[in-house]
Amino acid sequence: IDIQKYSDAALKANSGEVTNFTAEITAKDGIKSLVNWNVSVMNNRIDRLLWMGIDITEQQEVKEKLRVNESMMEFLTNNIQDAIFISDDNRQVISWNTSAELMFGYKLEEILLESVVPKLISKEYENQLFKSGHPSKQGNTLEVECIRKNGELFMAEAALSHILQEGRWNTMFAVRDISTRIKREQDLKNALETAKSAEKAKSEFLANMSHEIRTPLNGIIGFLDLLKQTEMDSTQIEYLKIINSSADSLLSIINEILDYSKLESGKMQIESVEFNIYEELESISELYTARAAEKDIAMHLYIDTEIPSYVIGDPLRIRQIVSNLLSNAIKFTHNGGVVTLEAKLKDVSDSEYLTTISVTDTGIGISEEKQQGIFEAFSQADSSVTRKYGGTGLGLAISSRFAQLMDSQLQLSSKEGEGSTFWFDVRFAVLRDSSYKNTFMGLIVGILKNDEFNYDENLIKRYLKYLGCELKIIPIAEAINILGSGEVFHIIVADCKKIPEKMLKEITEVILGSCRLIIFREPDLPMPSGLREETVIPAVKPIHITKLINLFDTIMTGKDGKKKDITEDIKFSGRLLVAEDNPVNQQLIKIILLKLGFTVDIVSDGQEAYNKVIAEKYDLIFMDFHMPVMDGVTATKKIIAWEKEQALPHTPIIALTANVVEESRSNYKEAGMDGFLAKPIVLVDLIILLREFIKEPPKLPSQLLSPIEELAAKMNVEDTAFIKLLVEEFVSVVSEKILEMQTNLLSGDFAAPLSHSEVLRGVALNLHYEEIDSILSQFENHCRNKDRRLAEMQLELLAKEIYNIRTVYLN
Ligand code: ADP
Repeated sequence: IDIQKYSDAALKANSGEVTNFTAEITAKDGIKSLVNWNVSVMNNRIDRLLWMGIDITEQQEVKEKLRVNESMMEFLTNNIQDAIFISDDNRQVISWNTSAELMFGYKLEEILLESVVPKLISKEYENQLFKSGHPSKQGNTLEVECIRKNGELFMAEAALSHILQEGRWNTMFAVRDISTRIKREQDLKNALETAKSAEKAKSEFLANMSHEIRTPLNGIIGFLDLLKQTEMDSTQIEYLKIINSSADSLLSIINEILDYSKLESGKMQIESVEFNIYEELESISELYTARAAEKDIAMHLYIDTEIPSYVIGDPLRIRQIVSNLLSNAIKFTHNGGVVTLEAKLKDVSDSEYLTTISVTDTGIGISEEKQQGIFEAFSQADSSVTRKYGGTGLGLAISSRFAQLMDSQLQLSSKEGEGSTFWFDVRFAVLRDSSYKNTFMGLIVGILKNDEFNYDENLIKRYLKYLGCELKIIPIAEAINILGSGEVFHIIVADCKKIPEKMLKEITEVILGSCRLIIFREPDLPMPSGLREETVIPAVKPIHITKLINLFDTIMTGKDGKKKDITEDIKFSGRLLVAEDNPVNQQLIKIILLKLGFTVDIVSDGQEAYNKVIAEKYDLIFMDFHMPVMDGVTATKKIIAWEKEQALPHTPIIALTANVVEESRSNYKEAGMDGFLAKPIVLVDLIILLREFIKEPPKLPSQLLSPIEELAAKMNVEDTAFIKLLVEEFVSVVSEKILEMQTNLLSGDFAAPLSHSEVLRGVALNLHYEEIDSILSQFENHCRNKDRRLAEMQLELLAKEIYNIRTVYLN
């Protein structure tokens, strides 16, 4: 203990005073405590002192903490930037910190007991300021207008809280001057506006520029279109196409400049329109063939034929991406390399076609390290390489962004020195069934072949198969023999680079009347000369499916502009049995099969079918699954068992069913049937199926003869001019006789028309006009029955038929 303190206190107490003091004591266990002592004389005896001590250690600690807190509060309230003041329940100021003094300009004594509104805060904010329900509610912050002593107004953020002081609810205001912040914000806004208008000026400049360039370009493109309509030879047409493509590509570059600025400002939108993906990709690749040819680079295009021709997507963006990839591929590939554009079907779901579009080259490639960041703007793999090849470094960035907009991603795989593949996947929706499959069903196409392996030739083969054509390879060594032998071809395809000119010339000489020879040439090489022109259709490589289709279309379209239905010329022969219980279906299938040249027997149930098979020999049997008496499966099993028993060759049995679920497809195999045909019957499917099981007889290319030539052939007369004369004669005689017979009928004379008709019918039969023969024989019946009305109707039919003959044969 502090001896001095204690002895002082003892002395004082002895002199009769009550003494108080605080001193620290140390207890026996060494713990120190602060004790408040009260010392007094006990019972008035000087030698007895009463010491009463209260341990105040804890009390002292709390006090100390409070003191620190208070000074901190004081420091804060006076040093914080915010003005802090308290008002009582009369909204009069009762407390004021230093910042308040600085912000508002009043000293505490000047503002004490003044009303907060309107002295410090503008009156119009009063309601807002004090509307917050119970005073204990905290944190009401809002922007208010405040007033300084000098009358200056400024915007501030005021946070109100309510505090309980000596049993009363007072309000504490924390006010922050935000006028500088607001000004800064305004400045920023202004700056942004300025920047925006500068950006706008830039976009406007770009738009104006491209408009200026586009105007003359549109003139070029427009007049090219007009030029196309004038008469030109095939070379000129090709050149024109290239000019056209270049103009288009220039136009798209200008659009690209716009695109980039649009992409930058996030304004680019993706279109969804229906377009022909074959034509699109073909025209893009055509655009680059000339450039590739300059470097002797082979340009290949392969489109998976399972992709429908019309898809929904953004053709322009795809064109831009692919153009850019092709242009890079050609740019970065050495002379003699190969560039391939491919569209492959990856997946089909919910009638959406996931398609991978890729461009592969055999060029310089890109090192792994340089592949990083290659899709960023202005990035070029190698500046020395770029200097050699030129470029802006924008193309891949734009392409990659376009791909992203289409929910796709441009990707790259490359090996330095070996080449690169860039690809992206796009999902196309499809509106309608638009595949080219079997467009030229039944067309017989010969391909002239030399020994050398040839990509284009394989490509043609693939496409022709897809189009449903019958393909015949003609080795050039045997070409003259084969073509001279009278074997039938509708079209022959040749690549003039692979076949000597002399040979081509000889081939054109031996080609049969209506057959045409399509000769593909390189875009930069001329057509071989001296060929028999009327048999040759010149075409320029590359070979595309739509190009083939267009060429075939031209060849297969008659002079009358009518397309010839090739399936009409498909003729089979053989005896078929159809087991089908529905009479409508019976008729339908019978008509189709008869048209195709078959003899047809119809039965209505399995038992009858079995009986027929035992009695007759058939080439093929169509068997319905569900039939009364005996179903198709049982009948098939019985027929097969019988064939085995008799050791007879098996007659193919084709299941007929409307049920196309997978199950029934496998059912027919289990039942021992050989094929499957879904109802309703699709002609093309039927023909494909028949071709599989029945050998077609050799056919004449009759659809390629003019009607008069056809008639001449039928009548075994060579002089077509004479036949034409005959037809003209016939038409005019019949027209005359119709009038005469009508007058006869009107006067009730049935005998004269009857004899006229018999004469006419004889001539009609000579001219193979079976239709007229049947009209006239009906007419004769009506005359015999003396039914004027019906007889007149037949005459009307006759007049119509004569009109038809006139248009078909004599135009
Ligand atoms: P640029 O206008 O320079 O071609 P791109 O963005 O289209 O701009 O390409 C960026 C860079 O990527 C090119 O400079 C080149 O170095 C590299 N590159 C692109 N495509 C190929 C490719 N097929 N083969 C090799 N390098 C390529």
